[in-house]
Amino acid sequence: MDKVIIFDTTLRDGEQSAGAALTISEKLEIARQLEKLGVDVIEAGFPIASPGDLEAVRNISKEIRGSSICALSHAQPQAVDTAWEGIKDAAEPRIHVFLSSSEIHMSHQLRKNRDQVLEQARAMVARAKKHLDNVEFSPMDATRTDRKFLYQLLRAVIDAGATTVNIPDTVGYTMPKEFGSLIQGIKRNVDNIEKAVISVHCHNDLGLAVANSLAAIDSGARQIECTVNGIGERAGNASMEEIVMAIKTRHDLMKYSTDINTERIYKTSRLVSDFTGMYVQPNKAIVGANAFRHESGIHQDGIIKERTTYEIMDPESIGLSGTTLSLGKLSGRHAFRKRLESLGYALSDDEINRTFAAFKELADKKKEITDRDLEAIISEELRTISEIYHLEQVQVSCGDLTMPTASVRLTGPDGKILSDAAQGTGPVDAVYRAINRLVKVPNELIEFSVKSVTEGIDAIGEVTIRIESEGKRYAGRGAHTDIIVASARAYMNALNRLLVTKGE
Ligand SMILES: [Zn+2]
Repeated sequence: MDKVIIFDTTLRDGEQSAGAALTISEKLEIARQLEKLGVDVIEAGFPIASPGDLEAVRNISKEIRGSSICALSHAQPQAVDTAWEGIKDAAEPRIHVFLSSSEIHMSHQLRKNRDQVLEQARAMVARAKKHLDNVEFSPMDATRTDRKFLYQLLRAVIDAGATTVNIPDTVGYTMPKEFGSLIQGIKRNVDNIEKAVISVHCHNDLGLAVANSLAAIDSGARQIECTVNGIGERAGNASMEEIVMAIKTRHDLMKYSTDINTERIYKTSRLVSDFTGMYVQPNKAIVGANAFRHESGIHQDGIIKERTTYEIMDPESIGLSGTTLSLGKLSGRHAFRKRLESLGYALSDDEINRTFAAFKELADKKKEITDRDLEAIISEELRTISEIYHLEQVQVSCGDLTMPTASVRLTGPDGKILSDAAQGTGPVDAVYRAINRLVKVPNELIEFSVKSVTEGIDAIGEVTIRIESEGKRYAGRGAHTDIIVASARAYMNALNRLLVTKGE
């Protein structure tokens, strides 16, 4: 059976576009999860882009042993050498060099002719090859590149040592049939193509990224570049979970395999969504909240009688627990730990203690605690982000006859207790103003959304915000049954992320 290499670019294409910077420790945490998921290649970043990116790639390379670590590079000597700096400690390092090849990019962006582009690509692949054997090359905007020139370019970079040639649909323009025929054309016309793996990198501008990727596999591509939840530039990249589950579910038509441990898909999706502040739409295939929910009476009736009447995949195959039992006020530590284990969390005793306390507190307010509530507790209590300021207490008075007033108490960097109060146009505004008086970082709130984790009036509210400071955006998340408290936590989370990222 033909294996399809899964190349994940969540930390590069995904992070670059999420509108939210991730801290180095968050990137490392996502890389660990991708390794457990069984990803073959992790594109960890773009080292020349910033010192923080280089540092993150370096840390990931030092720790991750089970996946190949790839660094992206412009076709420039310094970029190639910096990429190598980032990944040289990896168990299986890879450099990914890219250069535009379409007429429109060459004449308007690069201002170079075909011969110059050909020579530059060849020379930079050769330069990368001096550092290591595993080199990938991408002709950017390949789907709008003249075919003859594309074949010529691919032949040249394979001669220079490229072991993977990636065909990006950079602008999300291609159609499945057309893309399939492009890959077949490459197989037929590039005479040294058997020395390299053909890869594809599809964007979702027309909603076709997954369809195009699958068409490419059928035409001979054996590496797919994709991201968790399909995040990425503009409309995003091909979604990993959709590609992997399509191959698995329609194995009758697609005789391929991947090394992905599909039971870890759901948890990976949640982790990426939490850290980037990018919600997964409820109707998203595979990982959306409604993906395995049956509303129609006829469907529900069918599912109860026989699951496969309306379900083509088993929810447990992506790591959604099949159990509907909820925990409640009387559930003990043992039941709590058992349930977390079944959700895939292996927590230390200390972590169990912290989360159990939060669970008990919630159980006092809410009669049924579902798996979604537990996930909210875990991501709230076990944040990997180090807190420079910690929210101790928030108190608000508001209503239609008073001016909303908030008082907050924080622990500062040196452990000192800080407190202040402020008025605002609404309770959240008042809380944010009070926090601003203590944490003096100029920023602008550009996005604020609140949703409930589960149904019911006693549900946990989850607040996601984005703030902007000096041209950079930072996401923040907070959860609590009181949405004002959740809002305050989300703001503290975003401010801490801003401060930590700036210090890196
Ligand atoms: Zn891309």
